[in-house]
Amino acid sequence: MKKKRLSKQELLEKQKLDNKKFNRTMLISFSILLFSLLSVLIFYTYWCDTRFAWRKIAWFKHEVPANWICMNGNNLQIHKSAKAEYKGETYYFCSQACFNHLVNHFNEAAYATDPVSGDTLLKANALIGLKKRNKTEVAYFKNKQNFKKYYESK
Ligand SMILES: [Zn+2]
Repeated sequence: MKKKRLSKQELLEKQKLDNKKFNRTMLISFSILLFSLLSVLIFYTYWCDTRFAWRKIAWFKHEVPANWICMNGNNLQIHKSAKAEYKGETYYFCSQACFNHLVNHFNEAAYATDPVSGDTLLKANALIGLKKRNKTEVAYFKNKQNFKKYYESK
C-alpha cells in the first residue's frame, strides 16, 4: 500500500519534471521563431537602404549604370529608374514628373557639361560617375579619359 502511493507520487513528480522540460523547449522554440521572424522583417525593411548606402561608397570612381540614376535630378536612386526613349535616345528617370520635366525643358535638362573638358554633351550618351563619395549627385563625362582624369584628383 505504501509502496503504491509512493510510486504514484513519483509519477506525479516525473510528470511535473516533464512539463517543465516541455515548457522550456517551447519557450526556446518560440524565441528562435520570433527572432527569425524579426530578422526577416528587418532585412526586408532595410535591405534597400543598406545596398543604397553601400553603392554610394562602392561606385565612387566607377562607372554608374544609367538605370540607377535619374537624368533629370542627376542623382543616384535607391531603386532602379525607368527607361524612356525620347528623340531616338535612351534616358532614365525616377518618375513620370522627371521625364515630363526633361521633355519640357529639353535644351537645358537633357544636356550636361563635362566637368573636365567643359564640353556640352547629351546625358543619354555620357559616362556617368558619382561626383563625391557617399553623395548621390552624378557627373556626366564625354569619354573615358575625362572620366579617369576627374577621379585622379579625388
Ligand atoms: Zn527624378
